[in-house]
Amino acid sequence: MRILIANDDGYLAPGLAALVAAVQGLGQVEVVAPEQNASGTSNALTLNRPLQVFTAGASAPGVQVINGTPSDCVHVALTGLLGYRPDLVLSGINQGANMGDDTLYSGTVAAAMEGYLFGIPAIAFSQVQKGWGDLDAAGRVVRAVVQQVLEQGLPAQPFLLNVNIPNRPDADRLPRRVTRLGRRHASEPVIRQINPRGEPIYWIGPAGDAREAGEGTDFHATASGFVSITPLQVDLTDHARLPDWRARLERAG
Ligand code: MN
Repeated sequence: MRILIANDDGYLAPGLAALVAAVQGLGQVEVVAPEQNASGTSNALTLNRPLQVFTAGASAPGVQVINGTPSDCVHVALTGLLGYRPDLVLSGINQGANMGDDTLYSGTVAAAMEGYLFGIPAIAFSQVQKGWGDLDAAGRVVRAVVQQVLEQGLPAQPFLLNVNIPNRPDADRLPRRVTRLGRRHASEPVIRQINPRGEPIYWIGPAGDAREAGEGTDFHATASGFVSITPLQVDLTDHARLPDWRARLERAG
C-alpha cells in the first residue's frame, strides 16, 4: 500500500504531522506539501512560474516541500516526482471545517480531488474547529477510517471522501454519519480599510452562516456529535435542468 499525503496548511502544520503519524504502519508513505499556508486556494495550479521542490529538515523530516498550491503538490507528485502511482491520496488534517459550499474553496479537499481526478481513491480530513485542539483524537479517527477503507478493499472506481472531525478528546469514539453537503448563506461583506499610504484595501469577509444545515447534512452531523463523511463527485453539470436548457437554447443545425 503506497500512500501520498498532502495538505493546504503548509508543510509545518501540526495537522500534517498528525496525519502522517496516524497512518504509520499502514503503508509506504510519501509527503508532498506546500511551503506556505495555501488555505482557500481551491484547485489552483501554478502555471506562470516554475515550481521548486526541496526536502524539509528536522522541522518536518522526510517531507518534500513545493513552493506552490496543494493541487500543485499532488499534481507534481503524480506526474513525475514520485515515479510510481500511489494507491491512496490523503489530505489534511486541516485546521478548520471544510463543509457545505466551503468545499469548493478548500485546498484540503482540492489536494485529495487532484488524486481523485487522476483515478486514485482519496480522502480529505479536517477538524471542525480551528486551533488544533484534540488533534491526537482526530488522528485516531483518521487511522480508523483509513484502516476500515483498506480492509474493505479499494474499489475499482476511485472515490473522494470528505471527512470532518469534531474537536473532542473522544472524537475516535464518536459515531460516524455519511452525509451530504449543506449550504451556506452568501459571505459577509468585504472589509474595506485604508493602508498607510492612504489607499483603500479590501479583506475578504468571513463565510456566511450555515443556511441549509438540516438532518443529513455535514453541518448537522458535526453539530450533533458525529464524525461527518461526505462522498464527493466532481461533475458540476446541472442534470436536473438539462431538458429545460435544451428546450431554451438548442437549435437544429
Ligand atoms: Mn487549511
